[in-house]
Amino acid sequence: MTKQVKKGKTVKKMVKKVKASKTLMASQTREKKKTPAMPKVRGTPWKTDKWFVSPWNYEPEVLKQFKFPPAKDIKIHDITLRDGEQQAGIAYTREDKLRIAKALADAGVHRIETGMPAVSKEDEDAIKEIVQANFGPEVFAFSRCMVSDVKLAKECGVKGVVVEIPSSEHIIKHAYGWELKKAVDLSIEATLLCKELGLYTVWFPIDASRADLNWFLDLIEEIATKGHMDALAVVDTFGGISPHAVPYLIKKVRERVKKPLEPHFHDDFGMGVANTLIALACGCTVAHTTVTGIGERAGNAAMEELVLALLTMYGIDIGIKTEQFYSLSKLVRELSHTTIPSNRPIVGETLLNVESGIVASWVRRCRAENPLELGPFLPSLVGQKPVEIVMGKSSGIDCVAEWLERINADASLEQREAIVQKVKQASIAKKGLLNEEEFRKIYESVVHG
Ligand SMILES: [Zn+2]
Repeated sequence: MTKQVKKGKTVKKMVKKVKASKTLMASQTREKKKTPAMPKVRGTPWKTDKWFVSPWNYEPEVLKQFKFPPAKDIKIHDITLRDGEQQAGIAYTREDKLRIAKALADAGVHRIETGMPAVSKEDEDAIKEIVQANFGPEVFAFSRCMVSDVKLAKECGVKGVVVEIPSSEHIIKHAYGWELKKAVDLSIEATLLCKELGLYTVWFPIDASRADLNWFLDLIEEIATKGHMDALAVVDTFGGISPHAVPYLIKKVRERVKKPLEPHFHDDFGMGVANTLIALACGCTVAHTTVTGIGERAGNAAMEELVLALLTMYGIDIGIKTEQFYSLSKLVRELSHTTIPSNRPIVGETLLNVESGIVASWVRRCRAENPLELGPFLPSLVGQKPVEIVMGKSSGIDCVAEWLERINADASLEQREAIVQKVKQASIAKKGLLNEEEFRKIYESVVHG
């Protein structure tokens, strides 16, 4: 009896298994039909003569998640001169703005948001001069949803305007003290004027990512139908959206508004670049970024990081001259009187210094023939100076070998080991790196002392 029951169960299980495998096969066939052609990966895009990133980035299972637009349609809308200047303490002169605009143009940025003409006469003049200079990129201005602001932008001669309005109920009520209807009415009036004046109109709803979803979706649909927009900025004013929520936001917005979308993500949680990448991978076309991520509070998505990630990790070249990144960042830092951590990605001042004895050994072995064993990209790809072996607490025997060559000196193995020990002590006492003179003194004391 027991056996029979067991047997019965086994048969049932087998039937179930066969059914399950048939269902699986059927679903696989269906999926096969549904799955679009996989992007073709030619060669080894993860390893070129300029970079070496993870090959996992290019696995078919990874690639099938993306819906990036063609590279020619992805554009950088630089906001260094507007959102960047809103970082507390930054105040550009007219000349500063011109110099930065020229450098952005030289780097191949597609669009420059030059500022809000209503802020000062200096800003208005700077915007006009950048328009007249005709450096190459499209020139945009930033305006509130006010008739006077839009008219002023038009007088500056810009091609387009980013028009802002608060879009979360709480910000409208609490921060502006408005009735909700006012935000709607002002947006319709201002955007229709933009259209009438022939300005490319990017409607910019502040704090969209913290708005009630349905209220926000109704709002954008109303402005898109009763007002006007050529593109809609997807705005995460306070950096509070998670990377996993971005595709959902984009999808819901797309269901209501059939316009190009421009991700504008802040970096309060360090997600600005990741969120922008994901938005592009969802089909958005114009990324709002600043040089080295300057901007209000924690700043905006950093252009250098976004562009280099697109190029190396996703194989998407949007035509930006990455070799200009270091000098562009340095110029913006100088003119904005800002500093960055010395190990900041791509543009940090000590990014390519090597102190560790172990890594110094790699450098000495690899720098001539296999430089990409030392980092994910060549320093020259981003305009950085070459890798340099420095002398400090973590230094080892190969660091000493390097510096002995530098000062054109020699020492026995025993002496070199003694030098390493003295270097470590001196570095701890100094709480920093040693300079050449300090190293030379240690060398003299060991070899000739
Ligand atoms: Zn912003």
